[in-house]
Formats: sequence, C-alpha cells, structure tokens
Amino acid sequence: MSMTAKEIRQAFLDFFASKGHQIVPSAPIVVKNDPTLMFTNAGMNQFKDLFLGEAPIKYPRVADTQRCLRVSGKHNDLEEVGIDTYHHTMFEMLGNWSFGDYFKKEAIAWSWELLTDVLKLDKDRLYVTVFEGDEKEGLPMDQDAYDFWKAFVPESRILKGNKKDNFWEMGDTGPCGPCSEIHFDNRSDEERAKVDGATLVNADDPQVIEIWNNVFMEFNRLKDGSLKKLPAQHVDTGMGFERLVRVIQGKTSNYDSDVFTPIIDFISKSAGIPYNAAATPDDKDWGQAVAMRVMADHIRAIAFAIADGQLPSNNKAGYVIRRILRRAVRYAYQYLGFKEPFLNKLVPLLAAQFKGVFDELISQQDFVQKVILEEENSFLRTLENGINRFEKYIQDNQDRQIDGAFAFELYDTYGFPIDLTELMAREKGLTVDMAGFDTELQKQKERSRAATAIDAGDWITVNEDDEVEFVGYDEVVATSRILKYRKV
Ligand code: ATP
Ligand code: MG
Ligand code: MG
Ligand code: MG
Repeated sequence: MSMTAKEIRQAFLDFFASKGHQIVPSAPIVVKNDPTLMFTNAGMNQFKDLFLGEAPIKYPRVADTQRCLRVSGKHNDLEEVGIDTYHHTMFEMLGNWSFGDYFKKEAIAWSWELLTDVLKLDKDRLYVTVFEGDEKEGLPMDQDAYDFWKAFVPESRILKGNKKDNFWEMGDTGPCGPCSEIHFDNRSDEERAKVDGATLVNADDPQVIEIWNNVFMEFNRLKDGSLKKLPAQHVDTGMGFERLVRVIQGKTSNYDSDVFTPIIDFISKSAGIPYNAAATPDDKDWGQAVAMRVMADHIRAIAFAIADGQLPSNNKAGYVIRRILRRAVRYAYQYLGFKEPFLNKLVPLLAAQFKGVFDELISQQDFVQKVILEEENSFLRTLENGINRFEKYIQDNQDRQIDGAFAFELYDTYGFPIDLTELMAREKGLTVDMAGFDTELQKQKERSRAATAIDAGDWITVNEDDEVEFVGYDEVVATSRILKYRKV
C-alpha cells in the first residue's frame, strides 16, 4: 500500500524541517491589502515583501503547505478544471523557501533527495527543465541549474525551456526569476518505449505532468515592464500536492487519489450514478464524469474562500466565488439531476479531511455550509427556467454564435454569469458574442448609475465598482437576493 495523502504531506514537511526549515502556517486563500492580487495563487505570495527586501527576515528557511486558488488574473485554470485531471481551482502548494540563504545547489539536491530517496519516485520517469535564456530580456541560460542537475539526471532528461515555462512571475509585477521544474512521466512502459517522454514535457499530455517548480528569485518586475535585481537571491519552490499524491499512488488522475475519492464517492452515491473515471468526450457519460470532478473540485475553492472571509457576492472577488459556485450548481443540476441544494452537504466531509491541516474549515463548518446552502437556493430558483430559455434559443436560432443581448438576458434575469453561458455554448459547439454582451452590460451600468444609490438607512444599493463590505442577506426579490452591503 502506497503512502496516504496525509503521510505524503507530512513527509514533505518533516523532510524540510530536517534541513533546518521552520514550518509555518498557510496564509488565507483570500488576499486583502494587495491591489495586484485577489487570491493567493502561489506559496510565495505571503513572502512577497521578504523577497523585495521590504520586511525583516525572521527565519531564513521556511516550508509549508499553502492553499492556493487559480481562477483569475495571470494564473487562471478554471476552464481546465474537470476536463483535465490535474488542474484544480483550489489546490495545496507544498513549498520550501530560502530568504537570502541557500540557493540553486541545495534546492536542486534536496528536491531530488526528497522525490527519489524519501518518496521513492522512479528516477527514470523524472524529467527536469531549466531556463534557456531570453535575448529580449537580456537573460542568459541557467547554466548553474543545468550543471547541478547533471549530478543526478542524465542529460537526455534535462530539458531547456522558454520564458513561458521557465521564468516564473507572480503577476504583471512583483518578484520573479528563472525556474527549474520537475515533471513525471506516468505512462505505461509500452507507451514510453514508443514515444520519448522528453517530447511530452510541457505538451499538455495528461500523463506527463509538472509536479514541482523551483524558482530562483532574483528580480522584481516593475510596472514599466523592466526587471530590477532584488537585493538578495532567494529560493521559492512550489509542488502541487494533489499531483504529487497521484503520482506516488500510481494513479492516472488526481481524482483517483485519496485526496478526492471520498468526495467523488459521496457525489456518485448521492446521485445514484457511477463515476466513470475513464470516460472520454465521445462517451455518453463524459458529462457526468466532468460534473463530478468539477463539483469535487469547486466545493474546495468555495468552502475555503468563505472560511477565509470572502463571501459570494455581486462584484470583484466575491463574484469570482459566486461564479465558481454557480458553475458547480449547473453541472450538478444538469448532468447529475441534483434539483435540490447538494453542494453544501460536501462541507462536513471536506472539513474532516482537512482537520489538523487547515482547521479554518472545521471551526466555521456550520457557517460555511449555511452560506453555500443560501447561494444554492438562490440560484436554483432561476436555473431551470434559464436552462429552458437557453435550449429554446438554440432550437429557434441557427446561428453558431449566441447573441450578446440574449447572453445578457441570461445574466440579468436568470443570474447566469457570462462564463457559464460561454461554457454551455461551448458544450453545444457554439460561441458567445462577447462584445455584444459587454455593450449590454455597459448600458445597464449607466442606467443604474443614473438612478443614484437608493438610501435605506444604513443599507444602500451599490454600483458595481464601489468598495463594499458584505454584511448579510436581505429579502429575496424576483430573481436574485438583495445582498446587504455597507459602503467602506
Ligand atoms: P501547469 O504548467 O501545469 O499549469 P504551472 O507551471 O502553471 O503548472 P507553477 O506556477 O509552476 O504551475 O506552480 C507550481 C506547482 O503547482 C506546479 O508545478 C504544479 O504542480 C502545481 N499547480 C499549478 N497549477 C495548479 C493547478 N491549477 N492545480 C493543481 N496544481 C497546480
Ligand atoms: Mg499553469
Ligand atoms: Mg508549467
Ligand atoms: Mg510551473
């Protein structure tokens, strides 16, 4: 029996503790006070100021598991989730850091030691990449990293990668640097004999996946696009926990590892529909399989966002969470027949799973569940009619593109976020006239701006761009809940 997810996480933390690292808690998934970032998208976010030399270094070596969300901004994987088997909205990023302490040599040696000695991954299936350099940016190839890898890996499995894959940046601005990644080839021996794994690295092959990124932080990307040397050199690594567990457990999908099976099982049993992990887009149960994966994934993002203080709402980060939630509700409803609120029932399962890792969920379990239930109730009120409208529209119109005004009707009257309409359109091989939709949205904004904010004592109806704080729900009016906000 291979190691459990829990044991694997602990092995990572114990390993870096044994190398002098202080184990620190995860930061919240919701980012306040940083206008460049809505949600934590990498383990390094909470250390940004340390890299920039703007905060004192308490421990020169730290390690942790960070809950991350990649659903907006530079790192946005939402469209992949459930369709592929290794991109999630919320995932754990295992990381170790050196703040001006050790550099490439140790980082590379330790990542190899952990993967091959401690976690016993097959050395022949591991590929590593180093930055090939970039003329435009005036950056040389990372020869040091290449040479350090040579001590462990035959050169046929050390690959050079471009700026897109091997120069890591947090966002449009901020700390960045060349990186060296580790990829795992999980294909059968037969497949591997036919096609060289080296050709499949960074090629979207679902069985040759990136597991760990070692970033060598040396620069700060400034607003004007230029790179400025940081005051010191740092190491910043990030390993996808769910991917690591999957490869150690020898599975071909993250959803078949014990991180996800309890939730998938619960969904499948509750729906009375078996989960076909092997379904392909040509199979008739493909939609159901995607739906189960999406639900198992999205509930994690939603639950942790709420636990960390970001409630679903009508604007900004809150709307990102509401969009994710509505996507999940639509999948549950349309593919698995959940006509009543169901997602919220997954919260206790999740909370138990993360006990001792992220206790934020267990301490707020009832609250999180209640918020999700409310949101489900609210969307389920209009979802069916919206779907019917959509189906009828498709029948009545032969166009390959959905009209902007109709997409806006779905948005405005039935609460369909535009990305949901796009997704439903894609399922039918159609596109959406986004420019047309934006025009309608703009018109509505102008209308509501013209009608100045309506005062109701402490409570006001707010324009989309106002800074507001969510304080609770009010009555239900027509299609959507009136949400109570206080202007801040
Ligand atoms: P990919 O190329 O697979 O999209 P990435 O290069 O964008 O990954 P990094 O920014 O290097 O990822 O993040 C470090 C690690 O976090 C990756 O090596 C991977 O294991 C993991 N990871 C990244 N994105 C996701 C995701 N959406 N879901 C799960 N794990 C992820
Ligand atoms: Mg990515
Ligand atoms: Mg990558
Ligand atoms: Mg990467």
